[in-house]
Amino acid sequence: MCSRCGLCDTYYVAKVKEACGFIGDGMSRIDQLEEQVHGRQRDLGEADEVTFGVHEHMSFCKLTPGVEGAQWTGVVTTIAVEMLRAGMVEAVVCVQSDPEDELKPKPCIAMTEEEVIEARGVKPSLSPNLEVLAEVEARGIKKLLFIGVGCQVQALRSVEKYLGLDELYVVGTNCTDNGPREGLEKFLQVTSANPDQVKHYEFMQDYRVHMMYKDGVTVEKVPYFCLPADQLTDVIATSCYSCFDYVNSLADVVVGYMGVPFEGPDVPMTKHFQYATIRNEKGREIWDLLRGTERLVEEPTTREGARQDFVKQTLVTDDDVQLGRAKSNPLPLWIGNILADVLEKIGPKGLEFAAYSLDYHVLRNYLLVYRRLGREKAWRHLPAYAKKIIESEDYEAIVAKQIAKGEKGEDWDLLDEMVSALPGEIRDLVNKVR
Ligand SMILES: Cc1cc2nc3c(=O)[nH]c(=O)nc-3n(C[C@H](O)[C@H](O)[C@H](O)COP(=O)(O)OP(=O)(O)OC[C@H]3O[C@@H](n4cnc5c(N)ncnc54)[C@H](O)[C@@H]3O)c2cc1C
Ligand code: SF4
Ligand code: SF4
Repeated sequence: MCSRCGLCDTYYVAKVKEACGFIGDGMSRIDQLEEQVHGRQRDLGEADEVTFGVHEHMSFCKLTPGVEGAQWTGVVTTIAVEMLRAGMVEAVVCVQSDPEDELKPKPCIAMTEEEVIEARGVKPSLSPNLEVLAEVEARGIKKLLFIGVGCQVQALRSVEKYLGLDELYVVGTNCTDNGPREGLEKFLQVTSANPDQVKHYEFMQDYRVHMMYKDGVTVEKVPYFCLPADQLTDVIATSCYSCFDYVNSLADVVVGYMGVPFEGPDVPMTKHFQYATIRNEKGREIWDLLRGTERLVEEPTTREGARQDFVKQTLVTDDDVQLGRAKSNPLPLWIGNILADVLEKIGPKGLEFAAYSLDYHVLRNYLLVYRRLGREKAWRHLPAYAKKIIESEDYEAIVAKQIAKGEKGEDWDLLDEMVSALPGEIRDLVNKVR
């Protein structure tokens, strides 16, 4: 398991055993690191802290005008530009495109506004952001902003004390189900009608993947239910199937989109609200700076619906495909669109949708890690908040049931035999329902 975060390409590789989110105590180190970074661990008695991590404040936000060519409205890019302008930092670790391949990430140390702006937009695959750390030291940089995803930030926080910095600020993005550049090719081939045209994509609250084309205008939308799930399992990296830090717990500020209700097909991503989680004092400092631009529009967060039944349904459907107990049956586009419209009306919205996605990923990844490592090692890897979700009344039974299915206990073998003895059509029907 390795998310290619870049640490091992530097001499900090000597610290890999204490820093890597996938070795030894793995992501359970987040518990202690929260204390180190935010002065306290997340409050496991408070539902939103369990889900979103330590925070002082959360809001829906967007910039008007936004940053042209940014992923959404360019909140992340603008923070970095403003911090450079204000002299809060001398340099920003961010991710530009490889000159040979627009979709391939190329981490860099940006010292000017132009270099930061050059890094706008997501390059949707694993990026070795930490590989530039040795250069940060060599250039004598003392005040640094690091932009990155959860696994990178965990490794960074673990070696922070060795970097000789006077100030380190961290702006994180949410991140899940990432993969290597090669896997992105396969994802686009099976998902898009024009794979060569896609620049980036997002899984939106309207139950569709929105794929932005390189022209910056055209957006292709495919309902989740039309994706061939069984062809996509090797597109996601093993590290990301073992990841329990979707919310980037150790950043000062986190910017994402999954917590925001879909504003409708007429509002492009580049004018759509994002959401921000301000975790600590440094986060507040960054956010106050952004407010000072007078381009920031903020609204209180909202939520609607109840996620638990949707989580269980998605988990069982996906896990049965993983186990080979069910085939993924991608729906025709028109039926997928009807289903997406219905779910958008009746499904969880706003922060409740984000919590749906977060709970689902925790449970799915737990089942996969459990099967790969066994209960003891899996438990050693998990942060406390993930254990709390797995053992909650809502999900305990469904997790146990899927584990039993995976272990193909006697009951399931017997059931398999009984089902296979049924006449053809009835057998198919029962298998479909299972
Ligand atoms: C790999 C990845 C996966 C994400 N997955 C989710 C998700 O599942 N749910 C969700 O709500 N939000 C996710 N996000 C966050 C979301 O897509 C936007 O990045 C966020 O809302 C900020 O938008 P913006 O317009 O402010 O960003 P911009 O101003 O356009 O800035 C984007 C920043 O992303 C950085 N970046 C680009 N590529 C990478 C990379 N491969 N790895 C690390 N950093 C990179 C750049 O340095 C740049 O500073 C993800 C982001 C990344 C990078
Ligand atoms: S995830 Fe990072 S720290 Fe862990 S092995 Fe890979 S490169 Fe090294
Ligand atoms: S899903 Fe987790 S492990 Fe994978 S790149 Fe994102 S933060 Fe890293």
